Amino acid sequence: MENCIFCKIVAGEIPSPRLYEDDKMIVIRDIEPKAKLHYLCIPKTHFALLSEMDDARADVVKHCFTVIPTLEKELGLEGGYRVIINQGENGGQTVHHLHIHLLGGEKLADF
Ligand code: AMP
Ligand code: ZN
Repeated sequence: MENCIFCKIVAGEIPSPRLYEDDKMIVIRDIEPKAKLHYLCIPKTHFALLSEMDDARADVVKHCFTVIPTLEKELGLEGGYRVIINQGENGGQTVHHLHIHLLGGEKLADF
């Protein structure tokens, strides 16, 4: 997808150290952390919204949520963490490539 910053990161066109990578997803640090630890789990395939879900995309999202718990220890999230997927304008989505925020490393403010 042209001009998508996360597609460029996935393609290696914008350098961003990968804390985890497999054939379907990467995990990177958020460049503007909103908590002591703030990661982004980014599917390698481009789509913006959960409303664009189809079977193939659902497989990728399922994969992300299967892998994320296996990374808790190495990401320092054993104490718990918050999972956020911002959707659209009202949700505050600024990058229109679906991604899963993982926030932790400290007690987060009540939501
Ligand atoms: P959202 O507002 O849910 O679309 O989240 C987009 C997130 O991407 C924000 O938290 C940004 O700080 C983060 N972000 C934007 N550009 C980069 C980048 N080059 N590397 C890492 N994180 C980024
Ligand atoms: Zn993209």
